[in-house]
Amino acid sequence: MVSSLIDPAIKWWRADVIHATFLPFEVDTILRIPVSRSLPEDKLIWMGNTRGEFTVKSAYHIAHCMIEGKDDVGSFMGDPLKPLWKRLWHLNLPAKIKIFAWRACFNGLPSREKLSARGINTANDCPICTKELESVHHVLLHCEFAIQVWSFWADGVQLIQRNNWTFLDSTMYILAHKPSHVLEPFFTVAWAIWHNRNKTIHEGKCSHPL
Ligand SMILES: [Zn+2]
Repeated sequence: MVSSLIDPAIKWWRADVIHATFLPFEVDTILRIPVSRSLPEDKLIWMGNTRGEFTVKSAYHIAHCMIEGKDDVGSFMGDPLKPLWKRLWHLNLPAKIKIFAWRACFNGLPSREKLSARGINTANDCPICTKELESVHHVLLHCEFAIQVWSFWADGVQLIQRNNWTFLDSTMYILAHKPSHVLEPFFTVAWAIWHNRNKTIHEGKCSHPL
């Protein structure tokens, strides 16, 4: 319930609960939402019009915008990731790296953590350092091999200093604080780290970070 995220005494968000529950970019979005002073009951609202009530006409309009690829779909649906998806497909990168980046942001790469969670019988430790569970975020950002790779790039150093960040958090940070073309080396280097991870598993060859 949304109400469990609000402190009724001060009529504001419980920042500690929100920080513990959501990703950093989601926390920023939530904490910017004003809270009603009258603390009304939770209720479902439709984002498709200003009254918050579902109408077939507004649903038709949203569907039409989606089919036409118009920009205001995201504002209807309140999707905070819309600027990222829009930017991602316009980056000057090979399609394979864009698709990789999309999967990495969605935590959709077949890391060992993911495979073992699906019941696929595999080791779940990182094949590079063998010290930690191999999540997407570990292998791409926080593994000692990845840290060495990112340390060669000034912009990359800022990303690995936040050791609880997910790949999506790092991506959203770049989008908010850097020129968007910085996403091109970021995604390309991440792709190379993942490629090296696959080579290590399948061929037993781990490249030098440099
Ligand atoms: Zn590792």
